[in-house]
Amino acid sequence: MADSALIADTATPEQRAFMFPTLTREQIERVATHGRVRPLRAGDVPIQPGDRSAPVLVVKSGRLHVLRIAGDGDERLIVVHGPGSFTGEANMLEGRPALMRVRVAEAGEAIELTREQLLSLVQNDTEIGDIITRGYIYRRLALVAQGLSDVVLLGSMHCASTLRVKEFLSRNGHPYQYVDLDTEKDVEAILDRLHVSSRDVPILICRGTTTLKNPTNEEIARCLGFNVSIDSAQLRDVVIVGGGPAGLAAAVYGASEGLDVLVVEANAPGGQAGASSRIENYLGFPTGISGAELTTRAFTQAQKFGAQVMIAEGAVSLKCDSTPYRVQINGDVLVPTRTIILAMGAQYRRPPLANLTRFTGTGVYFNATPMEASLCGGEEVIIVGGGNSAGQAAVFLSQTVKRVDILVRGESLASTMSRYLIRRIEDSGSIDVHTGTEIVALEGTNHLEAVRWRDKRTGTEETHALRHVFMMTGAVPNTGWLGGCIALDDKGFVKTGPALTAEDLARRRWPSARSPQIFETSLPSVFAVGDVRSGSMKRVASAVGEGSTAISLVHQALAG
Ligand SMILES: Cc1cc2nc3c(=O)[nH]c(=O)nc-3n(C[C@H](O)[C@H](O)[C@H](O)COP(=O)(O)OP(=O)(O)OC[C@H]3O[C@@H](n4cnc5c(N)ncnc54)[C@H](O)[C@@H]3O)c2cc1C
Repeated sequence: MADSALIADTATPEQRAFMFPTLTREQIERVATHGRVRPLRAGDVPIQPGDRSAPVLVVKSGRLHVLRIAGDGDERLIVVHGPGSFTGEANMLEGRPALMRVRVAEAGEAIELTREQLLSLVQNDTEIGDIITRGYIYRRLALVAQGLSDVVLLGSMHCASTLRVKEFLSRNGHPYQYVDLDTEKDVEAILDRLHVSSRDVPILICRGTTTLKNPTNEEIARCLGFNVSIDSAQLRDVVIVGGGPAGLAAAVYGASEGLDVLVVEANAPGGQAGASSRIENYLGFPTGISGAELTTRAFTQAQKFGAQVMIAEGAVSLKCDSTPYRVQINGDVLVPTRTIILAMGAQYRRPPLANLTRFTGTGVYFNATPMEASLCGGEEVIIVGGGNSAGQAAVFLSQTVKRVDILVRGESLASTMSRYLIRRIEDSGSIDVHTGTEIVALEGTNHLEAVRWRDKRTGTEETHALRHVFMMTGAVPNTGWLGGCIALDDKGFVKTGPALTAEDLARRRWPSARSPQIFETSLPSVFAVGDVRSGSMKRVASAVGEGSTAISLVHQALAG
Protein backbone atom coordinates (compact mmCIF):
# COMPACT_ATOMS: atom_id res chain seq x y z
CA MET A 1 0.00 0.00 0.00
CA ALA A 2 1.25 3.51 -0.69
CA ASP A 3 2.81 5.29 2.21
CA SER A 4 0.30 8.11 2.47
CA ALA A 5 0.10 11.12 4.71
CA LEU A 6 -2.91 13.19 5.66
CA ILE A 7 -5.44 12.29 2.96
CA ALA A 8 -5.83 8.70 4.18
CA ASP A 9 -5.22 9.43 7.85
CA THR A 10 -8.89 9.41 8.75
CA ALA A 11 -9.80 6.49 6.48
CA THR A 12 -10.54 2.96 7.67
CA PRO A 13 -7.99 0.26 6.68
CA GLU A 14 -10.43 -0.96 4.00
CA GLN A 15 -10.87 2.53 2.55
CA ARG A 16 -7.10 3.02 2.57
CA ALA A 17 -6.65 -0.23 0.68
CA PHE A 18 -9.18 0.88 -1.95
CA MET A 19 -7.74 4.39 -2.13
CA PHE A 20 -4.08 3.47 -2.46
CA PRO A 21 -3.81 -0.07 -3.82
CA THR A 22 -0.43 -1.48 -4.83
CA LEU A 23 -0.35 -3.04 -8.30
CA THR A 24 1.50 -6.35 -8.56
CA ARG A 25 4.56 -6.71 -10.81
CA GLU A 26 2.42 -8.61 -13.32
CA GLN A 27 -0.27 -5.88 -13.30
CA ILE A 28 2.41 -3.19 -13.80
CA GLU A 29 3.64 -5.09 -16.88
CA ARG A 30 0.08 -5.06 -18.25
CA VAL A 31 -0.16 -1.30 -17.62
CA ALA A 32 3.15 -0.86 -19.46
CA THR A 33 1.62 -2.17 -22.70
CA HIS A 34 -0.65 0.90 -22.74
CA GLY A 35 1.92 3.61 -21.93
CA ARG A 36 5.65 4.37 -21.95
CA VAL A 37 8.36 4.01 -19.34
CA ARG A 38 9.93 7.28 -18.21
CA PRO A 39 12.67 8.11 -15.74
CA LEU A 40 11.85 9.91 -12.51
CA ARG A 41 14.60 12.39 -11.56
CA ALA A 42 14.66 13.62 -7.98
CA GLY A 43 13.21 17.13 -7.74
CA ASP A 44 11.39 16.98 -11.10
CA VAL A 45 7.77 18.15 -11.12
CA PRO A 46 5.90 16.07 -13.72
CA ILE A 47 2.45 17.42 -12.76
CA GLN A 48 1.39 20.93 -11.74
CA PRO A 49 -2.03 22.05 -10.47
CA GLY A 50 -4.06 23.23 -13.45
CA ASP A 51 -2.24 20.97 -15.95
CA ARG A 52 -4.78 20.21 -18.63
CA SER A 53 -3.08 17.11 -19.93
CA ALA A 54 -1.52 15.72 -16.79
CA PRO A 55 -0.44 12.09 -17.23
CA VAL A 56 -1.01 9.21 -14.83
CA LEU A 57 2.24 7.90 -13.38
CA VAL A 58 2.45 4.30 -12.19
CA VAL A 59 5.54 4.06 -10.02
CA LYS A 60 7.92 1.18 -10.84
CA SER A 61 10.69 2.39 -8.53
CA GLY A 62 11.37 5.57 -6.59
CA ARG A 63 8.90 7.79 -4.77
CA LEU A 64 6.51 10.61 -5.68
CA HIS A 65 5.10 13.28 -3.38
CA VAL A 66 1.62 14.68 -4.04
CA LEU A 67 1.46 18.23 -2.74
CA ARG A 68 -1.43 20.55 -2.23
CA ILE A 69 -0.71 24.23 -2.69
CA ALA A 70 -2.23 25.96 0.32
CA GLY A 71 -3.76 29.45 0.22
CA ASP A 72 -0.46 30.93 1.43
CA GLY A 73 1.37 29.27 -1.49
CA ASP A 74 3.01 26.69 0.77
CA GLU A 75 3.14 23.06 -0.25
CA ARG A 76 1.40 20.51 1.99
CA LEU A 77 2.23 16.85 1.51
CA ILE A 78 -0.94 14.77 1.18
CA VAL A 79 0.21 11.47 -0.36
CA VAL A 80 3.44 9.54 -0.95
CA HIS A 81 3.36 7.09 -3.86
CA GLY A 82 5.86 4.24 -3.77
CA PRO A 83 6.39 1.28 -6.15
CA GLY A 84 3.11 -0.16 -7.46
CA SER A 85 1.12 2.97 -6.61
CA PHE A 86 -0.33 5.38 -9.18
CA THR A 87 -1.11 9.09 -9.31
CA GLY A 88 -4.38 10.83 -10.15
CA GLU A 89 -7.97 10.92 -8.95
CA ALA A 90 -11.39 11.15 -10.56
CA ASN A 91 -10.40 14.21 -12.61
CA MET A 92 -8.26 11.92 -14.80
CA LEU A 93 -11.41 10.10 -15.92
CA GLU A 94 -13.28 13.39 -16.25
CA GLY A 95 -10.56 15.00 -18.38
CA ARG A 96 -10.31 17.94 -15.97
CA PRO A 97 -7.13 19.78 -14.96
CA ALA A 98 -4.91 18.40 -12.18
CA LEU A 99 -5.68 19.61 -8.64
CA MET A 100 -2.30 18.89 -7.03
CA ARG A 101 1.43 19.14 -7.68
CA VAL A 102 3.44 15.93 -8.04
CA ARG A 103 7.18 16.03 -7.27
CA VAL A 104 9.73 13.25 -7.56
CA ALA A 105 11.03 12.68 -4.03
CA GLU A 106 13.26 9.71 -4.84
CA ALA A 107 14.59 8.91 -8.32
CA GLY A 108 13.33 5.84 -10.14
CA GLU A 109 11.08 4.88 -13.04
CA ALA A 110 7.37 5.16 -13.81
CA ILE A 111 4.98 4.17 -16.54
CA GLU A 112 3.37 7.26 -17.99
CA LEU A 113 -0.17 7.10 -19.40
CA THR A 114 -1.99 9.89 -21.20
CA ARG A 115 -5.71 10.24 -20.40
CA GLU A 116 -6.59 8.42 -23.64
CA GLN A 117 -4.24 5.57 -22.73
CA LEU A 118 -5.73 5.46 -19.24
CA LEU A 119 -9.26 5.20 -20.67
CA SER A 120 -8.18 2.45 -23.02
CA LEU A 121 -6.58 0.55 -20.09
CA VAL A 122 -9.65 0.99 -17.88
CA GLN A 123 -12.02 -0.10 -20.64
CA ASN A 124 -10.02 -3.12 -21.81
CA ASP A 125 -8.49 -4.55 -18.64
CA THR A 126 -11.35 -5.11 -16.23
CA GLU A 127 -9.19 -6.09 -13.26
CA ILE A 128 -6.87 -3.10 -13.40
CA GLY A 129 -9.72 -0.86 -14.57
CA ASP A 130 -11.69 -1.68 -11.42
CA ILE A 131 -8.67 -1.08 -9.16
CA ILE A 132 -7.95 2.31 -10.71
CA THR A 133 -11.57 3.48 -10.95
CA ARG A 134 -12.29 2.49 -7.34
CA GLY A 135 -9.07 4.14 -6.15
CA TYR A 136 -9.97 7.35 -7.95
CA ILE A 137 -13.50 7.44 -6.53
CA TYR A 138 -12.24 6.87 -2.97
CA ARG A 139 -9.55 9.52 -3.39
CA ARG A 140 -12.12 12.01 -4.65
CA LEU A 141 -14.43 11.24 -1.73
CA ALA A 142 -11.55 11.85 0.68
CA LEU A 143 -10.65 15.14 -1.01
CA VAL A 144 -14.28 16.28 -0.85
CA ALA A 145 -14.67 15.21 2.78
CA GLN A 146 -11.49 17.02 3.82
CA GLY A 147 -12.01 20.05 1.57
CA LEU A 148 -8.59 19.49 -0.01
CA SER A 149 -8.79 21.33 -3.25
CA ASP A 150 -7.81 24.15 -5.51
CA VAL A 151 -10.96 26.07 -4.54
CA VAL A 152 -11.72 28.22 -1.52
CA LEU A 153 -15.29 29.47 -1.14
CA LEU A 154 -16.03 32.41 1.13
CA GLY A 155 -19.73 32.58 1.82
CA SER A 156 -22.55 33.38 4.15
CA MET A 157 -25.66 31.39 4.85
CA HIS A 158 -27.65 34.62 4.66
CA CYS A 159 -26.87 34.80 0.97
CA ALA A 160 -28.80 32.62 -1.50
CA SER A 161 -25.95 32.41 -3.98
CA THR A 162 -23.72 30.74 -1.41
CA LEU A 163 -26.09 27.78 -1.29
CA ARG A 164 -26.21 27.68 -5.11
CA VAL A 165 -22.41 27.66 -5.42
CA LYS A 166 -22.02 25.03 -2.68
CA GLU A 167 -24.61 22.86 -4.41
CA PHE A 168 -22.97 23.30 -7.79
CA LEU A 169 -19.53 22.29 -6.48
CA SER A 170 -20.93 19.38 -4.47
CA ARG A 171 -23.07 18.01 -7.26
CA ASN A 172 -20.09 18.17 -9.58
CA GLY A 173 -18.06 16.32 -6.94
CA HIS A 174 -15.51 19.12 -6.82
CA PRO A 175 -13.78 19.43 -3.43
CA TYR A 176 -13.63 22.88 -1.85
CA GLN A 177 -12.65 24.59 1.35
CA TYR A 178 -15.46 26.67 2.84
CA VAL A 179 -14.83 29.80 4.88
CA ASP A 180 -17.99 30.80 6.73
CA LEU A 181 -17.96 34.60 6.92
CA ASP A 182 -20.81 34.44 9.48
CA THR A 183 -18.51 32.89 12.05
CA GLU A 184 -15.03 33.97 10.90
CA LYS A 185 -13.43 36.54 13.24
CA ASP A 186 -11.33 38.62 10.84
CA VAL A 187 -13.85 38.94 8.02
CA GLU A 188 -12.95 42.52 7.12
CA ALA A 189 -9.24 41.71 7.01
CA ILE A 190 -9.86 38.70 4.76
CA LEU A 191 -12.06 40.73 2.39
CA ASP A 192 -9.56 43.61 2.32
CA ARG A 193 -6.73 41.25 1.45
CA LEU A 194 -8.76 40.01 -1.52
CA HIS A 195 -9.84 43.54 -2.52
CA VAL A 196 -13.51 42.57 -2.29
CA SER A 197 -16.40 43.62 -0.08
CA SER A 198 -19.22 41.79 1.67
CA ARG A 199 -21.47 42.77 -1.28
CA ASP A 200 -19.43 40.43 -3.50
CA VAL A 201 -20.23 37.29 -1.45
CA PRO A 202 -19.97 34.45 -2.31
CA ILE A 203 -16.36 34.75 -3.37
CA LEU A 204 -14.63 31.85 -5.02
CA ILE A 205 -10.85 31.69 -5.17
CA CYS A 206 -9.98 29.47 -8.04
CA ARG A 207 -6.54 27.82 -7.93
CA GLY A 208 -5.18 30.53 -5.67
CA THR A 209 -4.98 32.92 -8.61
CA THR A 210 -8.43 34.01 -9.77
CA THR A 211 -10.96 35.63 -7.47
CA LEU A 212 -14.55 35.34 -8.70
CA LYS A 213 -17.20 37.56 -7.14
CA ASN A 214 -20.65 35.95 -6.88
CA PRO A 215 -19.84 33.82 -9.95
CA THR A 216 -22.39 32.08 -12.15
CA ASN A 217 -22.15 28.31 -12.46
CA GLU A 218 -20.78 28.78 -16.00
CA GLU A 219 -18.00 31.01 -14.69
CA ILE A 220 -17.06 28.46 -12.05
CA ALA A 221 -17.03 25.63 -14.60
CA ARG A 222 -14.83 27.72 -16.87
CA CYS A 223 -12.40 28.69 -14.13
CA LEU A 224 -12.05 25.10 -12.93
CA GLY A 225 -11.67 23.83 -16.48
CA PHE A 226 -14.59 21.40 -16.27
CA ASN A 227 -14.97 21.34 -20.05
CA VAL A 228 -11.40 21.89 -21.24
CA SER A 229 -11.00 18.52 -22.92
CA ILE A 230 -14.17 18.87 -25.02
CA ASP A 231 -14.09 19.88 -28.68
CA SER A 232 -17.55 21.33 -29.30
CA ALA A 233 -17.00 21.65 -33.05
CA GLN A 234 -16.59 17.89 -33.50
CA LEU A 235 -19.42 16.09 -35.33
CA ARG A 236 -20.95 13.65 -32.81
CA ASP A 237 -22.81 10.38 -33.29
CA VAL A 238 -25.17 11.51 -30.57
CA VAL A 239 -25.61 14.60 -28.44
CA ILE A 240 -27.56 13.90 -25.27
CA VAL A 241 -29.21 16.99 -23.82
CA GLY A 242 -29.48 16.58 -20.04
CA GLY A 243 -27.35 14.63 -17.59
CA GLY A 244 -30.04 13.20 -15.28
CA PRO A 245 -30.63 9.45 -14.95
CA ALA A 246 -32.04 9.17 -18.50
CA GLY A 247 -29.18 11.09 -20.13
CA LEU A 248 -26.48 9.36 -18.10
CA ALA A 249 -27.94 5.93 -18.89
CA ALA A 250 -27.91 6.79 -22.59
CA ALA A 251 -24.31 8.01 -22.22
CA VAL A 252 -23.16 4.80 -20.50
CA TYR A 253 -24.77 2.55 -23.12
CA GLY A 254 -23.79 4.74 -26.05
CA ALA A 255 -20.15 5.17 -25.06
CA SER A 256 -19.75 1.53 -24.03
CA GLU A 257 -21.04 0.54 -27.49
CA GLY A 258 -18.47 2.67 -29.23
CA LEU A 259 -20.51 5.77 -30.08
CA ASP A 260 -19.00 9.23 -29.92
CA VAL A 261 -21.19 10.68 -27.17
CA LEU A 262 -21.44 14.23 -25.86
CA VAL A 263 -23.74 15.03 -22.95
CA VAL A 264 -24.70 18.69 -22.59
CA GLU A 265 -25.77 19.46 -19.02
CA ALA A 266 -27.12 22.88 -18.06
CA ASN A 267 -26.13 22.58 -14.41
CA ALA A 268 -24.60 19.50 -12.80
CA PRO A 269 -25.00 15.79 -13.52
CA GLY A 270 -27.72 13.97 -11.61
CA GLY A 271 -30.86 15.91 -12.50
CA GLN A 272 -33.80 15.61 -10.14
CA ALA A 273 -32.54 12.30 -8.85
CA GLY A 274 -29.40 14.07 -7.64
CA ALA A 275 -31.64 16.08 -5.32
CA SER A 276 -33.24 13.03 -3.76
CA SER A 277 -32.15 12.18 -0.22
CA ARG A 278 -32.88 8.47 -0.55
CA ILE A 279 -34.23 6.46 -3.47
CA GLU A 280 -35.67 3.26 -2.10
CA ASN A 281 -37.48 1.80 -5.08
CA TYR A 282 -34.60 1.55 -7.55
CA LEU A 283 -33.85 -2.07 -8.39
CA GLY A 284 -30.84 -3.55 -6.62
CA PHE A 285 -30.63 -1.18 -3.65
CA PRO A 286 -32.80 -2.80 -0.96
CA THR A 287 -31.73 -0.31 1.70
CA GLY A 288 -31.97 2.65 -0.68
CA ILE A 289 -29.29 4.88 -2.12
CA SER A 290 -28.99 8.64 -2.11
CA GLY A 291 -29.70 10.19 -5.48
CA ALA A 292 -26.34 11.95 -5.36
CA GLU A 293 -24.46 8.68 -4.90
CA LEU A 294 -26.42 6.88 -7.61
CA THR A 295 -25.89 9.60 -10.17
CA THR A 296 -22.24 10.22 -9.23
CA ARG A 297 -21.58 6.55 -9.90
CA ALA A 298 -23.39 6.83 -13.23
CA PHE A 299 -21.39 9.94 -14.14
CA THR A 300 -18.09 8.15 -13.44
CA GLN A 301 -19.32 5.10 -15.35
CA ALA A 302 -20.19 7.20 -18.40
CA GLN A 303 -16.76 8.83 -18.35
CA LYS A 304 -14.98 5.53 -17.85
CA PHE A 305 -16.44 4.44 -21.19
CA GLY A 306 -15.32 7.66 -22.83
CA ALA A 307 -18.52 9.74 -22.91
CA GLN A 308 -17.81 13.45 -22.64
CA VAL A 309 -19.99 15.54 -20.35
CA MET A 310 -20.14 19.29 -20.80
CA ILE A 311 -21.03 20.93 -17.50
CA ALA A 312 -22.99 24.15 -16.92
CA GLU A 313 -23.66 24.52 -20.64
CA GLY A 314 -27.36 24.36 -21.42
CA ALA A 315 -28.81 23.81 -24.87
CA VAL A 316 -30.48 27.07 -25.88
CA SER A 317 -31.73 26.30 -29.38
CA LEU A 318 -31.93 23.58 -31.96
CA LYS A 319 -31.04 24.10 -35.61
CA CYS A 320 -33.24 21.51 -37.24
CA ASP A 321 -33.62 22.70 -40.85
CA SER A 322 -30.74 20.63 -42.17
CA THR A 323 -28.62 17.66 -41.16
CA PRO A 324 -26.38 17.20 -39.32
CA TYR A 325 -28.51 18.91 -36.69
CA ARG A 326 -26.81 21.54 -34.58
CA VAL A 327 -27.44 22.08 -30.90
CA GLN A 328 -26.68 25.60 -29.80
CA ILE A 329 -25.27 25.82 -26.31
CA ASN A 330 -24.72 28.91 -24.15
CA GLY A 331 -22.94 31.55 -26.18
CA ASP A 332 -22.80 31.01 -29.93
CA VAL A 333 -21.37 27.51 -29.95
CA LEU A 334 -23.12 25.11 -32.35
CA VAL A 335 -22.48 21.42 -31.76
CA PRO A 336 -23.07 19.33 -34.92
CA THR A 337 -24.57 15.87 -34.44
CA ARG A 338 -26.09 13.02 -36.41
CA THR A 339 -28.63 12.12 -33.75
CA ILE A 340 -29.95 13.70 -30.55
CA ILE A 341 -31.41 12.31 -27.35
CA LEU A 342 -33.52 14.82 -25.46
CA ALA A 343 -33.29 14.03 -21.73
CA MET A 344 -33.90 17.44 -20.16
CA GLY A 345 -36.32 16.13 -17.54
CA ALA A 346 -38.46 18.53 -15.61
CA GLN A 347 -38.15 20.92 -12.73
CA TYR A 348 -40.44 21.95 -9.88
CA ARG A 349 -43.16 24.36 -10.78
CA ARG A 350 -42.65 27.72 -9.13
CA PRO A 351 -45.96 28.68 -7.51
CA PRO A 352 -47.03 32.25 -8.34
CA LEU A 353 -46.10 33.72 -4.94
CA ALA A 354 -44.78 37.22 -4.38
CA ASN A 355 -41.28 37.09 -2.86
CA LEU A 356 -40.58 33.58 -4.12
CA THR A 357 -37.45 34.62 -6.01
CA ARG A 358 -36.35 36.90 -3.19
CA PHE A 359 -36.37 34.09 -0.63
CA THR A 360 -35.08 31.31 -2.89
CA GLY A 361 -32.02 30.02 -1.06
CA THR A 362 -32.77 32.08 2.05
CA GLY A 363 -35.72 30.14 3.36
CA VAL A 364 -37.29 28.72 0.19
CA TYR A 365 -35.69 25.59 -1.28
CA PHE A 366 -36.38 23.38 -4.27
CA ASN A 367 -34.11 20.53 -3.12
CA ALA A 368 -34.04 18.59 0.13
CA THR A 369 -30.49 17.31 0.37
CA PRO A 370 -28.18 17.19 3.42
CA MET A 371 -27.03 20.69 2.42
CA GLU A 372 -30.49 22.25 2.90
CA ALA A 373 -31.15 20.05 5.94
CA SER A 374 -28.05 21.49 7.62
CA LEU A 375 -29.64 24.97 7.36
CA CYS A 376 -32.81 23.91 9.19
CA GLY A 377 -31.49 21.82 12.09
CA GLY A 378 -33.83 21.90 15.11
CA GLU A 379 -36.35 24.28 13.44
CA GLU A 380 -39.84 23.79 12.02
CA VAL A 381 -40.19 23.43 8.25
CA ILE A 382 -42.97 23.32 5.66
CA ILE A 383 -43.11 21.10 2.63
CA VAL A 384 -45.47 22.13 -0.14
CA GLY A 385 -46.65 19.25 -2.36
CA GLY A 386 -48.17 15.80 -2.12
CA GLY A 387 -46.02 13.68 -4.42
CA ASN A 388 -43.30 11.16 -3.65
CA SER A 389 -40.59 13.79 -3.63
CA ALA A 390 -42.52 15.73 -0.95
CA GLY A 391 -42.99 12.54 1.08
CA GLN A 392 -39.31 11.64 0.82
CA ALA A 393 -38.28 15.14 1.83
CA ALA A 394 -40.62 15.03 4.85
CA VAL A 395 -39.27 11.69 6.07
CA PHE A 396 -35.69 12.81 5.50
CA LEU A 397 -36.02 16.22 7.14
CA SER A 398 -38.00 14.88 10.10
CA GLN A 399 -34.79 13.19 11.28
CA THR A 400 -33.11 16.52 11.99
CA VAL A 401 -35.76 19.24 12.24
CA LYS A 402 -38.21 19.92 15.08
CA ARG A 403 -41.41 19.49 13.06
CA VAL A 404 -42.54 19.11 9.45
CA ASP A 405 -45.85 20.42 8.13
CA ILE A 406 -46.86 19.13 4.70
CA LEU A 407 -49.29 21.37 2.81
CA VAL A 408 -51.31 19.52 0.16
CA ARG A 409 -53.96 21.08 -2.02
CA GLY A 410 -55.77 17.75 -2.54
CA GLU A 411 -57.98 15.97 -0.03
CA SER A 412 -55.51 13.14 0.67
CA LEU A 413 -52.08 11.83 -0.17
CA ALA A 414 -53.36 8.46 -1.35
CA SER A 415 -53.60 9.25 -5.06
CA THR A 416 -50.26 11.04 -5.33
CA MET A 417 -47.81 9.38 -2.91
CA SER A 418 -46.49 5.82 -2.59
CA ARG A 419 -47.99 3.77 0.22
CA TYR A 420 -44.62 3.14 1.93
CA LEU A 421 -44.05 6.89 2.29
CA ILE A 422 -47.58 7.56 3.57
CA ARG A 423 -47.05 4.87 6.20
CA ARG A 424 -43.75 6.42 7.35
CA ILE A 425 -45.39 9.83 7.58
CA GLU A 426 -48.24 8.37 9.64
CA ASP A 427 -45.78 6.57 11.92
CA SER A 428 -43.65 9.65 12.45
CA GLY A 429 -44.50 11.68 15.49
CA SER A 430 -43.12 14.89 13.98
CA ILE A 431 -44.87 15.19 10.59
CA ASP A 432 -48.33 16.78 10.19
CA VAL A 433 -50.26 16.69 6.92
CA HIS A 434 -52.60 19.58 6.11
CA THR A 435 -54.87 18.51 3.25
CA GLY A 436 -56.95 21.00 1.25
CA THR A 437 -54.40 23.67 2.13
CA GLU A 438 -52.40 26.05 -0.01
CA ILE A 439 -49.59 28.44 0.72
CA VAL A 440 -50.54 32.06 -0.02
CA ALA A 441 -47.72 34.34 1.19
CA LEU A 442 -44.07 34.48 2.17
CA GLU A 443 -42.91 37.25 4.49
CA GLY A 444 -39.59 38.47 5.85
CA THR A 445 -36.75 40.89 5.26
CA ASN A 446 -33.36 39.32 4.51
CA HIS A 447 -34.54 35.78 5.27
CA LEU A 448 -37.96 34.15 5.24
CA GLU A 449 -39.59 34.81 8.61
CA ALA A 450 -43.27 33.88 8.24
CA VAL A 451 -45.57 31.85 6.01
CA ARG A 452 -49.30 32.28 5.47
CA TRP A 453 -51.49 29.41 4.34
CA ARG A 454 -55.20 29.02 3.58
CA ASP A 455 -57.65 26.21 4.21
CA LYS A 456 -59.35 25.93 0.80
CA ARG A 457 -62.54 24.54 2.31
CA THR A 458 -63.17 27.33 4.84
CA GLY A 459 -61.08 30.13 3.38
CA THR A 460 -59.42 30.60 6.80
CA GLU A 461 -55.87 31.94 6.67
CA GLU A 462 -53.17 31.37 9.28
CA THR A 463 -49.75 32.98 9.59
CA HIS A 464 -46.93 30.98 11.17
CA ALA A 465 -43.44 32.13 12.14
CA LEU A 466 -41.41 29.73 10.01
CA ARG A 467 -38.03 30.13 8.33
CA HIS A 468 -37.91 27.22 5.90
CA VAL A 469 -40.23 26.14 3.07
CA PHE A 470 -39.51 23.29 0.65
CA MET A 471 -41.39 23.65 -2.65
CA MET A 472 -42.08 20.25 -4.21
CA THR A 473 -45.05 21.08 -6.35
CA GLY A 474 -45.29 19.14 -9.60
CA ALA A 475 -42.94 19.40 -12.49
CA VAL A 476 -42.75 21.35 -15.73
CA PRO A 477 -40.66 20.09 -18.69
CA ASN A 478 -37.50 21.89 -19.80
CA THR A 479 -38.55 22.18 -23.44
CA GLY A 480 -38.79 25.93 -23.96
CA TRP A 481 -35.60 26.00 -26.05
CA LEU A 482 -36.84 23.57 -28.73
CA GLY A 483 -38.63 26.27 -30.66
CA GLY A 484 -40.92 24.89 -33.35
CA CYS A 485 -38.65 21.94 -34.19
CA ILE A 486 -40.42 19.25 -32.17
CA ALA A 487 -44.07 18.41 -31.46
CA LEU A 488 -45.00 18.86 -27.80
CA ASP A 489 -48.14 17.91 -25.88
CA ASP A 490 -50.41 20.53 -24.32
CA LYS A 491 -48.26 20.61 -21.15
CA GLY A 492 -45.02 21.04 -23.08
CA PHE A 493 -43.71 17.46 -22.81
CA VAL A 494 -42.13 15.93 -25.94
CA LYS A 495 -44.39 13.62 -27.94
CA THR A 496 -42.81 10.46 -29.29
CA GLY A 497 -43.67 7.34 -31.33
CA PRO A 498 -47.32 6.34 -31.20
CA ALA A 499 -48.31 9.55 -29.37
CA LEU A 500 -47.56 11.55 -32.53
CA THR A 501 -50.63 12.16 -34.63
CA ALA A 502 -50.71 12.40 -38.42
CA GLU A 503 -51.30 16.11 -37.92
CA ASP A 504 -48.20 16.45 -35.68
CA LEU A 505 -46.11 14.76 -38.36
CA ALA A 506 -47.58 16.77 -41.23
CA ARG A 507 -47.06 20.05 -39.36
CA ARG A 508 -43.41 19.23 -38.64
CA ARG A 509 -42.90 17.98 -42.22
CA TRP A 510 -41.97 14.41 -41.18
CA PRO A 511 -40.11 13.43 -44.34
CA SER A 512 -40.21 9.68 -44.23
CA ALA A 513 -42.69 6.97 -45.25
CA ARG A 514 -41.97 5.06 -42.03
CA SER A 515 -43.61 5.98 -38.74
CA PRO A 516 -41.52 7.39 -35.89
CA GLN A 517 -39.98 4.73 -33.67
CA ILE A 518 -40.90 4.42 -30.01
CA PHE A 519 -39.07 7.36 -28.28
CA GLU A 520 -38.52 9.05 -31.67
CA THR A 521 -39.85 12.60 -31.85
CA SER A 522 -41.48 14.35 -34.81
CA LEU A 523 -37.93 15.06 -36.05
CA PRO A 524 -36.20 11.99 -37.52
CA SER A 525 -33.21 10.66 -35.51
CA VAL A 526 -34.10 12.87 -32.54
CA PHE A 527 -35.32 10.88 -29.52
CA ALA A 528 -36.81 11.87 -26.17
CA VAL A 529 -36.49 9.87 -22.96
CA GLY A 530 -37.24 10.13 -19.26
CA ASP A 531 -39.34 12.78 -17.55
CA VAL A 532 -39.30 15.15 -20.51
CA ARG A 533 -41.16 12.62 -22.66
CA SER A 534 -44.92 12.87 -22.81
CA GLY A 535 -46.52 9.89 -21.07
CA SER A 536 -43.34 8.65 -19.37
CA MET A 537 -43.44 7.18 -15.86
CA LYS A 538 -41.47 9.97 -14.09
CA ARG A 539 -39.32 7.52 -12.15
CA VAL A 540 -35.58 6.85 -12.01
CA ALA A 541 -35.90 3.27 -13.26
CA SER A 542 -38.04 4.20 -16.25
CA ALA A 543 -35.74 7.12 -17.13
CA VAL A 544 -32.73 4.78 -17.03
CA GLY A 545 -34.58 2.16 -19.07
CA GLU A 546 -35.65 4.65 -21.71
CA GLY A 547 -32.19 6.23 -21.91
CA SER A 548 -30.51 2.91 -22.53
CA THR A 549 -33.18 1.71 -24.97
CA ALA A 550 -32.83 4.86 -27.04
CA ILE A 551 -29.24 3.92 -27.84
CA SER A 552 -30.39 0.93 -29.91
CA LEU A 553 -32.56 3.38 -31.90
CA VAL A 554 -29.54 5.66 -32.35
CA HIS A 555 -27.61 2.72 -33.83
CA GLN A 556 -30.44 2.12 -36.29
CA ALA A 557 -30.60 5.79 -37.23
CA LEU A 558 -26.83 5.94 -37.80
CA ALA A 559 -26.99 2.80 -39.95
CA GLY A 560 -29.99 4.04 -41.98
C1 LIG B 1 -36.67 15.09 -4.60
C2 LIG B 1 -37.00 14.01 -5.59
C3 LIG B 1 -37.08 12.69 -5.17
C4 LIG B 1 -37.35 11.67 -6.08
N1 LIG B 1 -37.40 10.37 -5.64
C5 LIG B 1 -37.60 9.37 -6.50
C6 LIG B 1 -37.59 8.01 -6.05
O1 LIG B 1 -37.42 7.72 -4.88
N2 LIG B 1 -37.76 7.04 -6.97
C7 LIG B 1 -37.96 7.31 -8.29
O2 LIG B 1 -38.07 6.37 -9.08
N3 LIG B 1 -38.00 8.59 -8.74
C8 LIG B 1 -37.82 9.61 -7.88
N4 LIG B 1 -37.86 10.92 -8.30
C9 LIG B 1 -38.13 11.18 -9.74
C10 LIG B 1 -36.85 10.99 -10.54
O3 LIG B 1 -35.78 11.67 -9.92
C11 LIG B 1 -37.03 11.45 -11.96
O4 LIG B 1 -38.07 10.69 -12.53
C12 LIG B 1 -35.76 11.27 -12.77
O5 LIG B 1 -34.70 12.01 -12.22
C13 LIG B 1 -35.98 11.70 -14.22
O6 LIG B 1 -34.76 11.60 -14.89
P1 LIG B 1 -34.47 12.42 -16.24
O7 LIG B 1 -33.07 12.13 -16.57
O8 LIG B 1 -35.52 12.13 -17.21
O9 LIG B 1 -34.65 13.96 -15.86
P2 LIG B 1 -33.99 14.86 -14.74
O10 LIG B 1 -33.59 14.07 -13.56
O11 LIG B 1 -34.93 15.97 -14.55
O12 LIG B 1 -32.64 15.40 -15.42
C14 LIG B 1 -32.68 16.30 -16.48
C15 LIG B 1 -31.35 17.02 -16.59
O13 LIG B 1 -31.37 17.82 -17.77
C16 LIG B 1 -30.76 19.07 -17.50
N5 LIG B 1 -31.29 20.06 -18.45
C17 LIG B 1 -32.50 20.65 -18.47
N6 LIG B 1 -32.60 21.50 -19.50
C18 LIG B 1 -31.43 21.45 -20.15
C19 LIG B 1 -30.92 22.11 -21.30
N7 LIG B 1 -31.65 22.98 -22.02
N8 LIG B 1 -29.65 21.83 -21.68
C20 LIG B 1 -28.89 20.96 -20.99
N9 LIG B 1 -29.34 20.32 -19.89
C21 LIG B 1 -30.59 20.54 -19.49
C22 LIG B 1 -31.13 19.36 -16.06
O14 LIG B 1 -30.20 20.27 -15.48
C23 LIG B 1 -31.06 17.97 -15.44
O15 LIG B 1 -29.79 17.69 -14.92
C24 LIG B 1 -37.59 11.97 -7.43
C25 LIG B 1 -37.54 13.30 -7.86
C26 LIG B 1 -37.24 14.30 -6.96
C27 LIG B 1 -37.16 15.72 -7.44
